Amino acid sequence: MPMSLEQIARHIEACERCPLAASRLHAVPGEGDPAAKLLFVGEGPGQSEDEQGRPFVGAAGQLLDRMIAAIGMRREEVFIANIVKCRPPNNRVPLPEEAFACLPYLRAQVAAIRPKVIVCLGATAARAIISPETRVTRDRGAWTERKGYWMISTYHPAALLRDPIKKKDAWIDFQRIRDKLKELITPNA
Ligand code: URA
Repeated sequence: MPMSLEQIARHIEACERCPLAASRLHAVPGEGDPAAKLLFVGEGPGQSEDEQGRPFVGAAGQLLDRMIAAIGMRREEVFIANIVKCRPPNNRVPLPEEAFACLPYLRAQVAAIRPKVIVCLGATAARAIISPETRVTRDRGAWTERKGYWMISTYHPAALLRDPIKKKDAWIDFQRIRDKLKELITPNA
């Protein structure tokens, strides 16, 4: 029996596996439908997320919500998590050893949720989940299947806020995600 999402969240909230634990206000386990078909994975909590204990609630999160709505879904229907569950100081990129220490929690979350599609938002997620060699600018929008999970990377919403020209490609990726879900979920397909 895989651990439940609640059990995993309790472990995360008590976690001291890496130094990020010392500076957190709140751990951010993730949230959403425990039976979601679609799992988004970001990098790590920022300031708003650290304050509220919830993922993607700042400006990047509002954009993510709009992108989810654009493919006809609601935030409550998907699951949103991060590679590291505690805020890195000054929002720096998580160190490889921090990501490594935190990865068992994401693995446990995937085992509990069993999503059809995993979307890596940005390079930190794509490198931890798909391949350490991933370059999002080059590799975004391409599917990798492993153990029945379909994985894809796209730009992190924060990157889209910094460089709106990338939104066009991100929209292409989101349409692919919508179509893949349709294909995987259609009965008798
Ligand atoms: N950026 C992330 O990668 N994750 C969050 O939860 C918020 C912003």
